[in-house]
Amino acid sequence: MSRQASDFNLTAATKFTSNGNGTKQSPMDIERIFGENAFGLDEMKTRLAPETFSSLLATIDQGEAIDLEIGNEVANAMKEWAMERGATHFTHWFQPLTGNTAEKHDSFITPNKGGGAIAKFSGSDLFQGEPDASSFPSGGLRATFEARGYTIWDPTSPAFIIENKNGSYLAIPTAFASWGGEALDAKTPLLRSMGAVDKQARRVLELFGHKEVGKVTATVGVEQEYFLIDEEFYYRRPDLMTTGRTLVGAKPPRGQELDDHYFGSIPDRVLSCMLETEKELYRLGIPVKTRHNEVAPSQYEIAPIFENTNIACDHQQLLMIILQRIARQHGMVCLLHEKPFAGINGSGKHNNWSIGTDTGINLLEPGDNPHDNLQFLFFCAAVIEAVYKHQDLLRVSVASAANDHRLGANEAPPAIMSIFLGEQLEDVFNQIDAGAPTESKQGGFMGLGTPVLPNLPRHAGDRNRTSPFAFTGNKFEFRAVGSSQSVSFPNVVLNTIVAEALDGMAGSLEAKMNSGMAMEIAAAEVVRETVHESKAIIFGGDNYSDEWHTEAERRGLLNLKTTVDALETLISEKNIKLFESYGVLSETELRSREEIWVEQYFIRINIEAETTESLARTMIMPAATRYLSTLVKTMKRGDKVGVSTSGVKEVADHMAAYVNELQEALSVLINANKDLGGDTVHEKAHHMLNNVIPAMNKVRHATDRLERITAGDLWPLPTYRDMLFVK
Ligand code: ADP
Ligand code: MG
Repeated sequence: MSRQASDFNLTAATKFTSNGNGTKQSPMDIERIFGENAFGLDEMKTRLAPETFSSLLATIDQGEAIDLEIGNEVANAMKEWAMERGATHFTHWFQPLTGNTAEKHDSFITPNKGGGAIAKFSGSDLFQGEPDASSFPSGGLRATFEARGYTIWDPTSPAFIIENKNGSYLAIPTAFASWGGEALDAKTPLLRSMGAVDKQARRVLELFGHKEVGKVTATVGVEQEYFLIDEEFYYRRPDLMTTGRTLVGAKPPRGQELDDHYFGSIPDRVLSCMLETEKELYRLGIPVKTRHNEVAPSQYEIAPIFENTNIACDHQQLLMIILQRIARQHGMVCLLHEKPFAGINGSGKHNNWSIGTDTGINLLEPGDNPHDNLQFLFFCAAVIEAVYKHQDLLRVSVASAANDHRLGANEAPPAIMSIFLGEQLEDVFNQIDAGAPTESKQGGFMGLGTPVLPNLPRHAGDRNRTSPFAFTGNKFEFRAVGSSQSVSFPNVVLNTIVAEALDGMAGSLEAKMNSGMAMEIAAAEVVRETVHESKAIIFGGDNYSDEWHTEAERRGLLNLKTTVDALETLISEKNIKLFESYGVLSETELRSREEIWVEQYFIRINIEAETTESLARTMIMPAATRYLSTLVKTMKRGDKVGVSTSGVKEVADHMAAYVNELQEALSVLINANKDLGGDTVHEKAHHMLNNVIPAMNKVRHATDRLERITAGDLWPLPTYRDMLFVK
């Protein structure tokens, strides 16, 4: 401990026993508890009349409209089910553009004339809600005087129960839209983008002769990284409490250098927390699968089995909520911030994405025969083109003030987008690009399945941990996503850009086939043309290296270093056209997002800057001067009694120099904090980027130097060593 150990109680850490003080919990019966707190298909089937159930299924599977009659029956069954689980209230659960989830609870209770009450929940309660929407960001979509916003039931994502020891409530996943029908949320464009990719993928599949496919679904599985620290430290760090990250703090003598944490054995209290978290997730029907220690001390990871994009995104939001909630019950706090500790690895999410058919085929999985392989290469080429053409959008989709600390910081992919295919697949595409397939090769497309090309990798053997976008055998892994963000927009982008690429490629394929070319020859040519155009995006080397930055520039790839740079590209003509063409976001909806995200950027940094200022003025400076004063007093006394104080003087000189440095840096920050730098969100964002962040960094630099030499018992904040190594 930096201070006397007695300063911290650490009760939760020191009193923790893995056997719950002798009362052993009964083992978890996964099969029994899985999904018990979700109103899934099985539960609906047992509670609904067969006709009602099949009509609901038609809505869920084919998106058919649902009438109020059916709605009333579903609502009633849902209410009974929820009340059996102790629910007294319901809420429409939605995802406004803050990146979080929102809910407003209503009781089932309706008073009757006799002074009693009955529980009521109708189809219209289920279908639509009207929370007061004026306080959610709308980016100018909705003036406050017309503050109406509507939540609309999403029947494709199961309702669920949130429990508390004093009661529970029913949460119903919903979309959130303005009175004029504009999407004010993360879910609506996601559903639209799933429709777009379904349509274009089926068009391609039909050309490949697959008439039996009824639906193509984009699938997502998200690996989530997070930190767990003792909550006592958390409460003593105003910076963690208000911003989610440490704004000051010197790197400890021991960080992650020993590499002894990664995949190490999981500490008892942490394991206990993970087990309980997983249990709650299972009960909600969230199929979490893996857990392990991550690279940094006190950093961990949890990952589920993939699901359809919409449900995966809802479940991801819930997972973050449950992680934080259960950590508290173990005397810990779960930090989801992208960079809680400077100098220590930050956290991200790996967004694993693929597309699959309702006939059970993963379209990004290499096949067993030349025909299937050609189809795989076709879909794969679409992803390559999509990423190449829309590097900017992928970058925007992971842009935030917090993620700016990670991207390009040698622990996370750079801000430059590129694709890693693995040696074999890259080689295949190179050969396709080099050898023009000609009719003379007689249908045996460039030897697919013949010795000219190697067999396609069933499982990518090699890995590239530095790539932002890696093919991993049967899916692409988008690795630049931030740990605290919603995965919704990254998937909106993926679905939409791949839909566009498939659309274009299907068009070329049709044209070639119409001019009499055999399907396989034509498809091969489309693959070759597509890859030829987009191959600059393919990179298998070290993304952390300086050479890659130079090489990427030579290739003309974008390097949008900060959130501000990235967001400026969002509303380009190209992007407006893309989202409009596929009915995913209208121009107004896109512009409102740009405005909101720029606003969120400056607000977050402004809060950090004001917190830094207050920490420095009210905690750091007083501690430093107190120590300096002790040193000076010691020198005076030593002189009086003839004890040599040359060493003390040296320390005092250092302290004085750092205190002066801090005060100087602080004045600059105070000045930068005085105003927001302009009237528009863009002016404010630039002020934060160009003036406020550098000023904050200087204050931090001086503070961290002071921390290293100030008496431990005077230092007012828990140190990195405290926070990262008490488990
Ligand atoms: P790896 O070790 O290569 O990262 P895992 O099997 O651990 O692979 O998977 C990582 C994540 O990828 C998991 O969340 C998993 O569910 C997800 N995933 C696997 N297949 C798919 C798929 N077809 N679509 C989307 N996500 C997938
Ligand atoms: Mg992975």
